[in-house]
Amino acid sequence: MRRKKNNLRQKKKNLNRQYKQLISHAWQNEIILRRCQQMELRLMQCESFASLVQTLLTESPKNFELDQVALVLFDPKYDIRRLLLASEIDYQKLFPNLFFQYKKQMITQLLETEILPKLGPYDSMLHNHYFLSPNNTDRTILSVAALPLVQEKRIIGCLLFGDIQADRFVTDSATDFLQHLGSVISICIDMTLLRDRLKYSSLNDALTGINNRRFFEQRLPEEISRCKRSKTPISCLFVDVDHFKHFNDTYGHATGDLILKQVAGIIRKELRATDVVGRYGGEEFVVLLPNTDHQRAQEIAERIRKCIQKHRYKHEEHSLKVTVSIGIADFQKFVDENKTLAEIGQALVAAADNALYKAKQSGRNCIAVNS
Ligand code: GH3
Ligand code: MG
Ligand code: MG
Repeated sequence: MRRKKNNLRQKKKNLNRQYKQLISHAWQNEIILRRCQQMELRLMQCESFASLVQTLLTESPKNFELDQVALVLFDPKYDIRRLLLASEIDYQKLFPNLFFQYKKQMITQLLETEILPKLGPYDSMLHNHYFLSPNNTDRTILSVAALPLVQEKRIIGCLLFGDIQADRFVTDSATDFLQHLGSVISICIDMTLLRDRLKYSSLNDALTGINNRRFFEQRLPEEISRCKRSKTPISCLFVDVDHFKHFNDTYGHATGDLILKQVAGIIRKELRATDVVGRYGGEEFVVLLPNTDHQRAQEIAERIRKCIQKHRYKHEEHSLKVTVSIGIADFQKFVDENKTLAEIGQALVAAADNALYKAKQSGRNCIAVNS
């Protein structure tokens, strides 16, 4: 009788313990779920790929109490990096934990399947490249969770969570939360990249890769405002390829396109990073030179003209010589307090266009200043 009672008491104790464990487990899951939801919400609010990466790499270690987080993306054609650079984002400096791979295998080797997260011990052969080495940190990573990032059944990358506790990520643990998080991150990466690409193509010229007229017209009032405030001059160049129609008619449009690309490249190369250059129309380019008066602008225009003339444009069996005419105007001649910034901008471009007309009248392959 007494033994039976003892047995029952023991069973009750065990049940109680199991119940407490279950409750504690449920609480832990509740906390993880809430953290995941918070993180997902933050990620979904990101409006650009750079802000998404920033959020992911700086907030998820705090949010999930992780020691290191690394994002590895498949970027075989350099597209993502080009987009970042086009937005003047020095990603290597800004995001040391963001990595790009040309080969898909470099990503799949971090994973087991393309669906389920892979949890397990740190493997120096696989993870060494992505996590700070033990020499650079006193917190040596001992366990790793690798989340596959998949979009439309294609692997786009892998997110690595590293922890100093060996039992944080162990093989065969449940991975529902991580799997869900991986899916949300994949969608967010895809969405922000799509948004950045749209923005890029709306402000860049597809043929030459330089900015387009829309971009130029957006920057024009901003640059004029800056120069007005700092009381520094600003100059504008209008560059037009001479007899371009003749090249198209004689050698074909493909040769014409090649000339445009190379002329755009030469103009860009001859300018400072702070100068603005845009393809204004067919074979016309416009350049904005902040902090530059018309004397200095003439020197720059002359340098561009000579470089374009010197270059040989090779296409198929042809090696061609191309010249440009350049019109120059500067802002100081248009100081008029009653005009809006947009009106001053329009007047500046119109003046440079007038000067270009003068250069064409003077026989082409020359520069002219609006006076
Ligand atoms: P000018 O010396 O007076 O400037 O003469 P032009 O022949 O350069 O000027 P015109 O305006 O008569 O011809 C410009 C040509 O540029 C006509 C158009 O077909 C061509 N064009 C415009 N956009 C492109 C393009 O993207 N690719 C190519 N290949 N040709 C283009
Ligand atoms: Mg023209
Ligand atoms: Mg022309």
